Amino acid sequence: MSANLPKHEIADSALAATGKKRIEWADRNMPVLAQIRERFAKEKPFKGVRFSACMHVTTETANLMRTLEAGGAQLALCASNPLSTQDDVAASLVLDYGISVFAKKGIDRDGYYRHINAALDISPNQVFDDGCDLVNILHTTRTELLPEVAGGCEETTTGVIRLSQMAKDGALKFPMIAVNDTDTKHMFDNRYGTGQSTMDAIFRATNQLIAGKVFVVAGFGYCGKGVADRARGLGADVVVTEVDPTKALDALMQGFRVMPMKQAAQIGDIFITVTGNRTIISKDHFELMKDGAILANAGHFNIEIDVEWLEKNTKKNPQIRHATDEYKMANGNRILLIAEGRLVNLGAAEGSPAAVLDMSFANQALAAEWLLKDGGNLKPGVHEVPKVIDKEIARLKLKSMGAQIDNLTSIQEDYLNSWEHGS
Ligand code: SAH
Repeated sequence: MSANLPKHEIADSALAATGKKRIEWADRNMPVLAQIRERFAKEKPFKGVRFSACMHVTTETANLMRTLEAGGAQLALCASNPLSTQDDVAASLVLDYGISVFAKKGIDRDGYYRHINAALDISPNQVFDDGCDLVNILHTTRTELLPEVAGGCEETTTGVIRLSQMAKDGALKFPMIAVNDTDTKHMFDNRYGTGQSTMDAIFRATNQLIAGKVFVVAGFGYCGKGVADRARGLGADVVVTEVDPTKALDALMQGFRVMPMKQAAQIGDIFITVTGNRTIISKDHFELMKDGAILANAGHFNIEIDVEWLEKNTKKNPQIRHATDEYKMANGNRILLIAEGRLVNLGAAEGSPAAVLDMSFANQALAAEWLLKDGGNLKPGVHEVPKVIDKEIARLKLKSMGAQIDNLTSIQEDYLNSWEHGS
């Protein structure tokens, strides 16, 4: 390891030049974050603060890291998913931006956790997590680091659910900010970002025509809505499966077919799980599926589709296409699985596009600053990003897109603040 480079474990330093170009390309679509970076560079809010971040190592995350670094932070980044790392970005962050990175695409389980531990060795004052794996390690095997940690930010739905569970059990030892729960994050990144990048992954992996296909979406949260809408836009006959009656009703009234997975399994050509839960598609469903059914997960960890069962009970034909494995069932039917059942939009494509992550990561940057300045009184637990930050990000994003809106007049404001007016 070169003496003047930060600590790192990456796949290939020679990829740095490509990574830098792509990081700069993403930056063109991240004007809100760029504005924050400019201010941070002047004000240095994070001077002397150590951050450990466990996030997808992508061009967009690179621009978040640059922003935190511009604010004076000392940083270590590791991947939040073994398949999502963009090796060129990891190389550029280390070589061009001097940021410590521990990430390699396709790393095994041991390596994945070794990298999280390496990112924690910095002894963070604040953390950034995407899926709660880093916070989990801090609370289980690296508890000696806990006294230094003032708090952190969580990026995703799954992570917030896990953190809330920890908080309920009294296990969470510091405040965590639920960045996912801001409107400017989940209404855009989850819906438009996951929606588009999931389709992108299916194209890259299979080059299938979507028009005329029966496209099954399991789960109708923000991510599921985005995927279902985009599949419909491409001409698919979209089926939604749900366990929540209100969400199912919403899907039905939006014009999607709604049915149980057992029924959908028999008619689907393409299946996407986006539930945040586990064992959504398993043995009983595989056995009902048509020959050549395509399966992918865009929701949670690699347990939404029972990959373990496929591995044990079928004949695998690996890598028949980019990021695609084929499994031959005992009944002769073939099942195609993209990105090993891990997050398909990041495993087989590039994840949410920069234009939406601009807002997600503006929330991360401003929430981290707020936590540092005003977070002293926050109790251990899960906390919301202040509404003013969320609204300000929406305002800046609108402005960057050249759109203007009306302001409330004083008459309107008075009206909203009063209760005397009747019909
Ligand atoms: N770490 C878990 C949790 C799901 S990740 C896992 O990998 O299985 C889902 C999160 O990834 C979303 O909240 C989204 O904000 C983030 N994400 C999507 N595209 C991204 C990109 N291009 N770069 C960085 N993060 C991205």
